Amino acid sequence: MAFWTKADFDEHELVEFVHDRKSGLSAIIAIHSSHLGPAAGGTRFWHYPQADEAMVDALRLSRGMSYKNAMAGLPMGGGKAVVLLGADGGKTPDMLAAFGDAIDTLGGRYVTAEDVGATEADMVAISKRTPHVCGLPAEDGTVGGDPGPFTAMGIYHGIKAAVAHKLGKDGVKDVRIAVQGCGSVGGGVARLLAKDGARLIVSDIDAVRARTLARDLGGEAVAAERIMGIACDVFSPNALGAILDEEGIARLDCAVVAGGANNQLAREGDGALLAQRSILYAPDYVINAGGIINVGLEYLCRQHGSPCDINEVRRRIAQIPERLEAIWRESDETGQSPDVVADAMARRLIGRG
Ligand code: NAD
Repeated sequence: MAFWTKADFDEHELVEFVHDRKSGLSAIIAIHSSHLGPAAGGTRFWHYPQADEAMVDALRLSRGMSYKNAMAGLPMGGGKAVVLLGADGGKTPDMLAAFGDAIDTLGGRYVTAEDVGATEADMVAISKRTPHVCGLPAEDGTVGGDPGPFTAMGIYHGIKAAVAHKLGKDGVKDVRIAVQGCGSVGGGVARLLAKDGARLIVSDIDAVRARTLARDLGGEAVAAERIMGIACDVFSPNALGAILDEEGIARLDCAVVAGGANNQLAREGDGALLAQRSILYAPDYVINAGGIINVGLEYLCRQHGSPCDINEVRRRIAQIPERLEAIWRESDETGQSPDVVADAMARRLIGRG
């Protein structure tokens, strides 16, 4: 089968293979759509035992960014890059420089940021070679920097909207919320919910991290393998993707799934399984867009030489519930599951409806 007829290819506008002999850099830059503007999406630094896996990752993540950026109302398309690390997982300054040069040759068609395996320091190194990078260090209370707290803020708003939609409750006081993953996003979500009086159950494969968070917030910590079966109102996945497969969905004992992990549904059709169990699902790339809203605006302001207003970031993140409401409304009206409705909305926005 020709490469570009495979489902993952999905009419990508550009897929570039980068190799730099001197530094040993091997990377793939994938641009799914630039219909709405420069294609934005982070770079994943990862060791892939099979190079094919790197290609699949780049293509799927890149399309995901097209959908996410469109649904976030950003004037940006979607792209993603992967840097294929050796088995030792090491990256060098020369590799980062060569990667920055490769991005620069695209002249702004692709804009990078952090993803798994990348740090703010890596973005600073890349920024020495190209201006088409965001997620650069920023002072607290200003635009840019670590996207985690902004992602958490959007998820917090989204959970409140889901609780209102599904349970008819105004706020999360005494609502039982099970949080999977206590890192940058999950920890941030839990802290915001705790302030509103939610009853929290948290878990992490790092048990000490979960216990510490539970103690700080007055919640309960449970073992990582138990969290998906805990009786609760909301299950909030903020760790791994692909956890919502047939077996995982069967274990759930909740009314809502709303969390920040990317690619939560293992397969097409798993959204329908959630709907059959009357569990309301907040599509991941809609609810977790707070981080890209923050760094996307950082980039656009810098490009236009205009001042960046943190209140504009907060205002846009506060619109996430409206988008979720529109998806759930259409889902109620058409009987299609929310993930299917969201994908169709996103495709219309990028001119592929
Ligand atoms: P992080 O590395 O800060 O935290 C992840 C946490 O999950 C860690 O504490 C880790 O120990 C824990 N974990 C891993 N496997 C687990 C398991 N099986 N059960 C329970 N806990 C487990 O990462 P993060 O930035 O908080 O990102 C979390 C998720 O959100 C990821 O899927 C990421 O792709 C997604 N996401 C993050 C952002 C962002 O702004 N950081 C934006 C969009 C989506």
